[in-house]
Amino acid sequence: MSQTKYIFVTGGVTSSLGKGIIAASLAKLLQARGYRTTIQKLDPYINVDPGTLNPYEHGECYVTDDGAETDLDLGHYERFLNVRTSQANNVTTGRIYQSVIEKERRGEFLGKTVQVVPHITNEIKQRIQILGNSGDYDIVITEIGGTVGDIESLPYIEAVRQLLWELGENNGIVIHLTLVPYLSAAGELKTKPTQHSVKTLMESGIKADILVCRTEHEISDDIKEKLALFCNVKKGAVIQSIDASTIYDVPILMQEEGLDVVTLDKLALPNDAETDLEQWQQFLKKHKNPKHKVTIGLIGKYVELQDSYKSILESFIHAGAANEVKVEVKSIHSEHISEANVTDQMKGLDGILVAPGFGERGIEGKIIAVGHARENNIPFLGICLGMQMAVIEFARNVLGLPNANSTEMDSQTADPVISLMEEQKLVTDMGGTMRLGAWDCQLKPNSLVHEVYGKTDITERHRHRFEYNNMYKTQMEEAGLMATGLNPKTGLVEVVEIPSHPWFVGVQYHPEYRSTVANPHPLFVGFVKAALVQKQQQTNASLA
Ligand code: GLN
Repeated sequence: MSQTKYIFVTGGVTSSLGKGIIAASLAKLLQARGYRTTIQKLDPYINVDPGTLNPYEHGECYVTDDGAETDLDLGHYERFLNVRTSQANNVTTGRIYQSVIEKERRGEFLGKTVQVVPHITNEIKQRIQILGNSGDYDIVITEIGGTVGDIESLPYIEAVRQLLWELGENNGIVIHLTLVPYLSAAGELKTKPTQHSVKTLMESGIKADILVCRTEHEISDDIKEKLALFCNVKKGAVIQSIDASTIYDVPILMQEEGLDVVTLDKLALPNDAETDLEQWQQFLKKHKNPKHKVTIGLIGKYVELQDSYKSILESFIHAGAANEVKVEVKSIHSEHISEANVTDQMKGLDGILVAPGFGERGIEGKIIAVGHARENNIPFLGICLGMQMAVIEFARNVLGLPNANSTEMDSQTADPVISLMEEQKLVTDMGGTMRLGAWDCQLKPNSLVHEVYGKTDITERHRHRFEYNNMYKTQMEEAGLMATGLNPKTGLVEVVEIPSHPWFVGVQYHPEYRSTVANPHPLFVGFVKAALVQKQQQTNASLA
């Protein structure tokens, strides 16, 4: 296929309609028909990337192999498609302006006045076309963040309008995701908000080709006809997207509604290829019919907002299906854990995960939770800050170094078992300056992690400034906390484990960024399996 086709996904009426899931679901269906498909997200905020955003603001910051700190929707794209994304898949207004201003400073605009149209819009168009021009994809789906009508999204909408005109008919289409609310007092679904948002889009010169209507109730044929007539689309292009019990049902629901067929039709692409969703269906079957259940405690300080730990929660869904186990994740606020209540707080948990994070708030609770897992032989997985807390806990309670800490929390600590990397010491900027992206790691033969991964050479994604301090390695290992994964070039410790414990692993990297439906992450699969063993042993013990 020579001409790359472009699909633009806009949102109307309200935010949080799940544009990312719809885009990922459509991409899945197109991929299942053999089209090489990728997805890109354009975010209309002025931060250069979400790396500096508090998780309460924007949920989890997702990290790609090339070290881009990105919107969490890229996580959905990777989990659905099993295709890696990169910096090119996420663009923000901040990044667009930054590069236009840098060009201006280099004199590249040859004395011209630099304006939103055409300079900002040209930069946006170029960013959209980077993926298409790579030759790697037949179809590029571009999701425009925000809601149509927002001041922030105007330059994006204008760039899309121009690009549609340049691409010509059948090479670019617009899918408008909208809300059809149900008024219970009237007992009716209302189409007016959708009519207005389609009209707003038209005022910017863009006609929606397909409407995907989020709804809590079935949309009748009559309403579809009404929407089609007033919004200027064919009836077959009004797609219902009803609330689903799991996001992983959405590709199947969209297939039933014919979203892929109408999309291919609009793009003048053949739609006769068989849709191969066999693996997806297998996953769904296992996900929905678990044979057992385990409860995992997720110890974090951003637990009020589910999106903060999105990739971890999804990784548990993948690993649960792989084990045919329902994983119930119990979020526990680390600030609420104390020595006095830890036994109570951790009651009924078959596994304990201590989450990533930044800063001092809530860390003592995390350390107490690690200690509880270590002493009571409860399967434990520590991720990034969670691994660092495991090292601190071990230093304090096993090595007898009561003041052991990370220099992130106490720069003057007597025992800096976690400390700043040498190259980080001179860094002053906060944005994009951590140790980011994919790094090689070598696992110790015959370690637990070697068994879990089934190999010794792995690559995993990082996002942190602080590291295990190698000055303490001998002491730690002699006492039983083994460094079983090392960066082969720098010798930095990436994995620790306690061989005398049934399943105790801390990883400096983020396995959750690499788990997909097609490839559940081995660490999560192993952890869930260990939690199940733990549960069965507990049950047997109580029966004996
Ligand atoms: N705050 C820690 C560091 O910067 C851990 C980061 C994380 O958990 N992602 O090293």
